[in-house]
Amino acid sequence: MADATAGTIEALLQEQRRYPPPPEFAANANANDPSIYRRAEEDPEAFWAEQAKNLDWFKPYDRVLEWNPPWAKWFVGGELNACYNCVDRHIKGVRKNKAAIIWEGEPGEERVLTYRDLYREVNRAAAALQRLGVKKGDRVAIYMGMVPELPIAMLACARLGAPHSVVFGGFSPAALRDRINDCEAKVVITCDGGYRRGGIVPLKDNVDTAVAECPSVEKVLVVQRVGPTAKQVTMHEGRDIWWHDALHAEPWREVPCERVDSEHPLYILYTSGTTGKPKGVLHTTAGYLVGTSATHRLIFDLKEDDVYFCTADIGWVTGHSYILYGPLTNGATSLMYEGAPDYPDKDRMWAIVEKYGVTIYYTAPTAIRAHMRWGDEYTRHHDLSSLRLLGTVGEPINPEAWIWYHTNIGKGRCPIVDTWWQTETGMILITPLPGLVTLKPGSATFPFPGVSAAILDEAGNPVPNNTGGNLVITRPWPAMMRTIYGDPERYVQQYWSKYPGMYLTGDGARRDDDGYYWLLGRVDDVVNVAGHRIGTMEVESALVSHPSVAEAAVIGISDELKGQALAAFVTPRSGVKPSDSLIQELRAQVTKEIGPIARPDKIFFTAELPKTRSAKIMRRLLRDVAEGRVLGDTTTLTDPTVLADIKRQYEETET
Ligand code: ATP
Ligand code: MG
Repeated sequence: MADATAGTIEALLQEQRRYPPPPEFAANANANDPSIYRRAEEDPEAFWAEQAKNLDWFKPYDRVLEWNPPWAKWFVGGELNACYNCVDRHIKGVRKNKAAIIWEGEPGEERVLTYRDLYREVNRAAAALQRLGVKKGDRVAIYMGMVPELPIAMLACARLGAPHSVVFGGFSPAALRDRINDCEAKVVITCDGGYRRGGIVPLKDNVDTAVAECPSVEKVLVVQRVGPTAKQVTMHEGRDIWWHDALHAEPWREVPCERVDSEHPLYILYTSGTTGKPKGVLHTTAGYLVGTSATHRLIFDLKEDDVYFCTADIGWVTGHSYILYGPLTNGATSLMYEGAPDYPDKDRMWAIVEKYGVTIYYTAPTAIRAHMRWGDEYTRHHDLSSLRLLGTVGEPINPEAWIWYHTNIGKGRCPIVDTWWQTETGMILITPLPGLVTLKPGSATFPFPGVSAAILDEAGNPVPNNTGGNLVITRPWPAMMRTIYGDPERYVQQYWSKYPGMYLTGDGARRDDDGYYWLLGRVDDVVNVAGHRIGTMEVESALVSHPSVAEAAVIGISDELKGQALAAFVTPRSGVKPSDSLIQELRAQVTKEIGPIARPDKIFFTAELPKTRSAKIMRRLLRDVAEGRVLGDTTTLTDPTVLADIKRQYEETET
C-alpha cells in the first residue's frame, strides 16, 4: 500500500453526463436548503447536536464531543437505549400500528411486523435471553438467515445492553468459530437452516461444528425456520434451546430497557475481508444512532409513507445501519427479503418492488451488473412506478451500470444516491443529498454535511484536482468505529498512524474541478504502468461501457518493460461469445475512453469473477493467480470454484 497513489493518476475516465435533481423532488426533499453544507461546516458539533434531537434520551448528554485523537467520545454523559429508540418510543404515538418490518421469505411467505408487534416480540426475546443469563456487556453471536427473528434478536440484545456480533449466514463453520472466539460470545442465536436458491443452508449444523471449539459459548438458541420437514437438527441437551420454547416459557412481560451510557458498545461486526484478515469493528450507542438516523433521513429523503427496501444482508454493516438501526430509529417501514435475487427467476426483486409498492431501493453495483447481464426484459414485466429514489453502496459504480439503473429501474425519474462508506465508518460519509446535488454517474459527489474529507499524497499534502491520492477523513464523526475489539493497537496502527489525527480510509480518490469525489477503489488496487498511475476501477468502467460486457476486474501484473501492465478479467453479457475480435474492440474501447496507456495487455473472458461473500470483486486473489503465487486468504470467497476455474484457464493460456 506504501506509495500506490503517490503520483498523478494521469489516465482519467471522461464522464460528462449530468443529472440535476428533478424540480418536484427538490421542492419536497428533506434536505432542500443548500446552506446545510455551510452551516454544518462552520459548526459541526452544533450540526450533530441538532441531529441528536431526533433521539430519545433517558439522561441528556453534557458535551457533544470529546476528541483525543484517535479516541472519540460522542454525546458524553448521555444515557439512552437503542432498542427504546427503534421500537418503544414509536408505539406511544401514531406509528403504533405502522409496519416496521415487511418480510418476504424466499419460498414466498409474507410477514408484517407493526411497531407494536415488534415491541411484543422483542420483549419476549429479551426475557428469554435474560433467563439464559445474558447481562449488560455480555456478547451474543448471531448466525442466521434473513428472517424477522434476526432483527428481533439484535434489538433484544440492545435492550439488555448486550453487544451483538452478527456473522453473515454464508460463512463457514471455521469463519464462524474464529469470530465467536474473537469476541468471546456467551450465547449464539441461529436457525435450524436457511433457504437459499431453493436449497437449505445448514446453519445449525455449522454452529455445532463451530461451537465445539468455542469455550465461551454456554447456550445456543435455535429458531425453527425450515424444519422439521426440510431439515432435522440435533439439539444438545443442556446447551441448545428452541427459540419458540424459550420465548414462550413465561407469560409476556415488559423487560425494561437497560439505561446505557452513550459510549456503551452496541455491536461488534467483522469487516468483509476484501483486503485481508477481517477486523472486529466496535460501534457504540449514541453517536452511531445519531449518525445512521440522520444520514438515513436526509440521504434517502425518508417520508412517513415510504416503503424502504435495502437489499443487503443484515450480516453486513449496510444491513445493520440501513435495514435496522437507521430506518427504525426514524420509524420507517423497512422491507427485508430472505433469499436470492434470481430465485425462482431473475425478476424476483422487481416482483417485490411491485408487490409492496417499494418507494426507495438501495442495492449494490454488483447486483446491478448482474441484472444488466441477465438482460432488461426481466425489469419490463413489472410496474416499478412506485419507486422515487435509488441508491447504491459497496463498490464504485461504473457509469454504464449507473445509466442502466437510472434508465431501466428509475425510468429516468429517480435520483440515484451513490453512497460511499465502510464498516468502520458506521454511516454514509460521501454521498449526494438527492434534492440538492446534480449527479454525475460514477461519482459519490460530496462529503455529507459535517463530514470533512481530503485527498493526500504520501507526504500528507493535498493533491491537486484530478489527481489520485489517499482518501482521509479529517475530523471525527458520530458513527465512527471506536476501536478494533480486543486490538486497540491495530486500530491506531491501521487507521490513524499514517497521517496523525486523520482517519485513513485505505481507498483512493480524486476530486474534479467541480469538487466532486470519484472513488478509485482500494489504494492497493492502483497500478503503475510505465510511470503512469492508473486506477483499475476506471479501466473496468471503460470496459463495462462496451455493450458486450457485463462486468470486469482489472489488475496489475509485472512487466519487464513497463514495470506493470494491465490484465483484465471480463464477464460478457448473456448471449455474447468471446472472440479475438471482441478483445480488439475492448482494447479500442479503453483507448477511446481513457487513452492508450490504460489499454490492457491481456484480456481473459470468464463466466464469473471471484467475489467476497459480500459480493465485492476480489482483485487481490486475481493478482495472486496472475503472478503465479500461492493464493492468499480465501475464506471469505462466495464460491472458491470460480477462482479455481480462472486459475486453471489462466495457466492454460499462459503455457
Ligand atoms: P476489509 O476491510 O475486510 O478488506 P471491505 O473493505 O470490503 O473489507 P466493507 O467495510 O464492507 O469491507 O467495505 C467498505 C469498502 O467498500 C470501502 O472502503 C470501499 O472500498 C468500498 N465502497 C463502499 N461503498 C462504495 C462506494 N459508494 N463507492 C466506492 N467504493 C465503495
Ligand atoms: Mg475495508
